[in-house]
Amino acid sequence: MAMPEPLHDIAHLGAVELLTPEPHKALRFFRDLLGMEVVHEASGSVHLRGWGDYAASTLKLTTASAPGVGCIAWRTTSPEALERRAAALSALGLGIDWTNGDFGRGRSFRFRDPDGHIMEIYYEEQRYVAPPGLRSALKNQPQKYTGRGVGVRRLDHLAVLASDVATNRRFAQDILGFQLREQVIFEEGKREIGAWTSPNAVHHQLAYVTDVKGGHGRLHHLSFWVDNRDDVLRAADILSEEGIFIEAGPAKHNNSQGFYLYSYEPGGNRIEVYSGSYLVLAPDWQPVTWNEEERAAGVYWGGALPDSFIQYGTPNIEAGPAGDAPKLPVFF
Ligand code: FE
Repeated sequence: MAMPEPLHDIAHLGAVELLTPEPHKALRFFRDLLGMEVVHEASGSVHLRGWGDYAASTLKLTTASAPGVGCIAWRTTSPEALERRAAALSALGLGIDWTNGDFGRGRSFRFRDPDGHIMEIYYEEQRYVAPPGLRSALKNQPQKYTGRGVGVRRLDHLAVLASDVATNRRFAQDILGFQLREQVIFEEGKREIGAWTSPNAVHHQLAYVTDVKGGHGRLHHLSFWVDNRDDVLRAADILSEEGIFIEAGPAKHNNSQGFYLYSYEPGGNRIEVYSGSYLVLAPDWQPVTWNEEERAAGVYWGGALPDSFIQYGTPNIEAGPAGDAPKLPVFF
């Protein structure tokens, strides 16, 4: 059987909306501690960006009663690609509706993934033009490096929880056109625990991992890129000095080879500062599969990840009917 042509309709992760019950403290976290710039304020929301992001905004902080992820926005490779994916999503019954687009973006098509996370796709995007005080001396850099706080360069990826990883992984591959990079499968290939996928050379931009509490539409973490491992270590100092809870790291994952630091922003969402990793350029990449033994504690070196890393997601919920699932070893 001939292999289907790969889909290249989605270019990259564009922006993520984060819900937070602590808007003022969360704003301080992202602006002053992570070093992002505020670009726009609307009722109940603040839009921010990393100094290296080319788009007007890559993070939207929205006030809500509980933490979690709002809309996950993906930029398509062309206006035609946007129409094609919207039609494919509608045909599956996953479409919500067209909108005029969030701040900085044109017409957008909203939909849900099989687990219920709200996503949207768009093509038109306002390119960021820095105000005089933020202009870079480099004409190929969208904004100057301010050196404030951690100084995250750009949005990198997110990991969401899903009750059925396999279904959502297939959705990412077949409908969004993402390449499967790595996966964790337990019980001799029968139990899919996690899948790391991407529409581009970045190792993963969307990861699905098992929701051990049987919830739907929940967030595991949102991740921002820094250029060096040293920046991750410095982030640990900056966040610790400010009383931010550090859950794990700095250390290195086996999967993705990412050098990570996981903290909780004041509203409760898990935020990763990330570097290292590796790019994937091969069009015929063979997904790497890890089993229980190979996976071990989920880390390449450094201490094992804590149990909260499996149990905690946002919004935080009590274990549902699926909560009697066997206790899992840490899977990242
Ligand atoms: Fe991550």
